[in-house]
Amino acid sequence: MIIKDRQEPIELKLLRILYTRMELTEKEKFRYLNLQKGFEGEVAFDRTAESILERYIINDLLLEVNNSYVQIDSLIISQDVIHLLDIKNYEGDCYLEGDKLYSVTTNREYKNPIIQLKRSATLLRQLLQTLKLNFLVEPSVIFINPEFTLYQAPMDQPIILPTQVQSFISSFNNTPSKLNDHHKKLSQTLLSLHQTKNPYTNPPEYNFDQIQKGIYCNSCYSYLVFRNNSSYLCKNCGEQESIRAAILRNIDEFELLFPEKRITTQSIYEWCNTDISRKTIMRVLKEHYTMNSKAKGTFYK
Ligand SMILES: [Zn+2]
Repeated sequence: MIIKDRQEPIELKLLRILYTRMELTEKEKFRYLNLQKGFEGEVAFDRTAESILERYIINDLLLEVNNSYVQIDSLIISQDVIHLLDIKNYEGDCYLEGDKLYSVTTNREYKNPIIQLKRSATLLRQLLQTLKLNFLVEPSVIFINPEFTLYQAPMDQPIILPTQVQSFISSFNNTPSKLNDHHKKLSQTLLSLHQTKNPYTNPPEYNFDQIQKGIYCNSCYSYLVFRNNSSYLCKNCGEQESIRAAILRNIDEFELLFPEKRITTQSIYEWCNTDISRKTIMRVLKEHYTMNSKAKGTFYK
């Protein structure tokens, strides 16, 4: 049973929009592609984990313990044990040497996820102790990408390699697990401690003037979209989107990028910067948002 769903991180959404609408630095692009890849790996794991029965699954949990943050990709509560999972979408050939993880082809050093995971497990155990919840914590790093190979993988480390993921998942259903109120209380307590504000996000600086306005293709992100009756047609990939959907998508982006700005016919008209009339924008706003009228004019929420 999934207690908490995985959502696409706000920072990833934000970076995707900014990537399409302004020039990012190499570091920001790297961050964007990393987040994207990581999220894809987590979603791939979720698809495999769907078959797990008789367990509580909490995805994407952020806890604060002793002034430190613990970021948990997936937490699976069984009768006798809590599985703390870190999902990595690494690709290519890597090897472990001492505490360090290197790429075979580039020799680049990666952050060793096992060290981070062990630290998270320690903090989670401390938290459970404080809460007087007596559960065993078993951490594992899941390397989800089938294109990943780890040479010299030590057998005594909590590593699940791509070829082992399926049997790791099956092992849950092969082990009977009865959940009771105690487990329910544990899952509810952890959920109540979830932090919504992630301290690790560091989005690029941007302002309204420097950002490219206009409607781009929802599929290939090209700005080569043209009006075709009541839809937009992408000249690059052929994707079609109704004008209404395109406007709503652009309002969503506007809200996410500029939460402090008011949604008005004029602001969305400027933001869409295309051949849609103010009248059309106003109609869409009236249908999908609540109109507020104040002395300073009409805006929508
Ligand atoms: Zn396209």
